[in-house]
Amino acid sequence: MKLQEIKNIDIAGKKVFIRCDFNVPVDEYQNITDDRRIKSALNTIRYCIDNDCAIIIASHFGRPKNGYEEKYSLKPVKQRLKTLLQMESIKLAPSIVCEETLKMASELQNGEIMFLENMRFEEGETKNDPELSKKLASMADIYINDAFGVSHRAHASVEGIASHFDINHKAAGFLLAKEIKFFYHIIEEPKRPFVSIVGGSKVSGKLEALYNLVPKVDKIIIGGGMAFTFLKALGHEVGNSLVEDDLIPEALKIMEEAKTLGVKFYLPVDVIAAEAFDSESFAKAVTSQEIPKGWMGLDIGPASALLFSQALEDAHTILWNGPMGVYEMDKFAKGSTKLSHAVASSYATTVVGGGDTADLVRRTGDEEEMTFISTGGGASLELIEGKVLPGVKALIIEE
Ligand code: AMP
Repeated sequence: MKLQEIKNIDIAGKKVFIRCDFNVPVDEYQNITDDRRIKSALNTIRYCIDNDCAIIIASHFGRPKNGYEEKYSLKPVKQRLKTLLQMESIKLAPSIVCEETLKMASELQNGEIMFLENMRFEEGETKNDPELSKKLASMADIYINDAFGVSHRAHASVEGIASHFDINHKAAGFLLAKEIKFFYHIIEEPKRPFVSIVGGSKVSGKLEALYNLVPKVDKIIIGGGMAFTFLKALGHEVGNSLVEDDLIPEALKIMEEAKTLGVKFYLPVDVIAAEAFDSESFAKAVTSQEIPKGWMGLDIGPASALLFSQALEDAHTILWNGPMGVYEMDKFAKGSTKLSHAVASSYATTVVGGGDTADLVRRTGDEEEMTFISTGGGASLELIEGKVLPGVKALIIEE
C-alpha cells in the first residue's frame, strides 16, 4: 500500500489544514498530565512552518455532549503547543465553524497558526456531516491528516473533509505515515519468525485481530483474561476467571486453524489465581489445570512468563497487543513485566499497539527499547484486524 505523504506534495506557502489528535489526559484543574500526543505532531507542524504555510489545526478533546463546554476547550492544548513551538502567539477560533472562524481562516498569514476549538463541540463532527466537512475544507488549500488515534473514525474532520481535496492536495502527516508504515510493514512483510503476543481482557475485543494474525504469524502467544476462554475450550476448569462461554467454539476454531497452518500456539501453563478481583485478596501460582473453584486467574504464572520469553528468543518481529494480566495492580503485574523485559531485550523489531500495552511498557521502563509504540489504541487494533482506516482510505495512492 502506498500512501500520499506530506513530504511528497507541494505545500510551500499554502494554507494547510492539519487534523491532529490532541486528546490528551488532564487533571481536575485542566493541567495536561501527558503531552506526548502534542509532541508527536510537532514534526508535521514544524515542517509546515518551515514551508512558510498558514496553518489551521483541528483536534477533538474528550467527549463533550452539548456544544461548547469550558472543560473541553482546547485552550490548554493551544498553550502547550505555543510553548513547545516557542511561538509568540497562536490564534484560537471562538467556535468551530462560524462566520468569524471562516474570516479568521481567510485572513490567516503565512507563518501563522490558528487553532479551531474542539471539533466535537460541533454536532456534525461525529456524524460525518457533509456540510461541516465542506465548510472545514473551504478554509484551506491542503488537507493533512496526522491524527492516527482517531483515523478509525469516519468523522467530518477525519474522513469527510478529505473528499474535497484531490490527491495532490491532501496527505498523511509524518506521524500517520509512520504508524501506517510500521503496522502495514510488520503485518504484511514481517521478517520471520514473526511472533504475536495477544492479551487483554476479552476474546471478543480481539477476535478479528486473531483471525487476521493467525495465517500471518509463526507463533502466537495468548495471555490476559482472554486466555481463559481458550483454556476452558480445552476442557480446563478455570474457576471464576474471565470467560466468554459463547466464544468457546470460536476459540476452538482459531486453535484448529493455527494447528492446520503449523502456527505454534502458546497458552499459559500456570496462572496467578486470587480469591477475588482485589489487590488485597490472597493469591497464589497454580497450574492452568488446577485453578481452584471460585478463584480467578489474574496474571500468567512464572512458568508461563519463562515459556513465553523463551518463545520470543528467535523472533525477528514481535507484535504485542494486550497485557498478560491485571497489570494495574502490582500483585498481578509480574507476568506482563517479565514479558515486557523479554520483548525489550530481544533483537527483533518490536511493535507495541494498544493503550494499555503502551502504558505497561512505560511503567516497566522498557519504552526506549521498543522499536515502535503506537499512539492509537483503537486505530492500531483495527490495523491488526487488517482493516483500512476511514481516515486513511482517501490518502491511498496505490493498494
Ligand atoms: P484490553 O482493553 O482488551 O486490551 O484489556 C486490557 C485490560 O485487560 C487491562 O485493564 C487488564 O487489567 C485486563 N486484564 C488482563 N488480564 C486480565 C485477567 N486475567 N482478568 C481480568 N482482566 C484482565
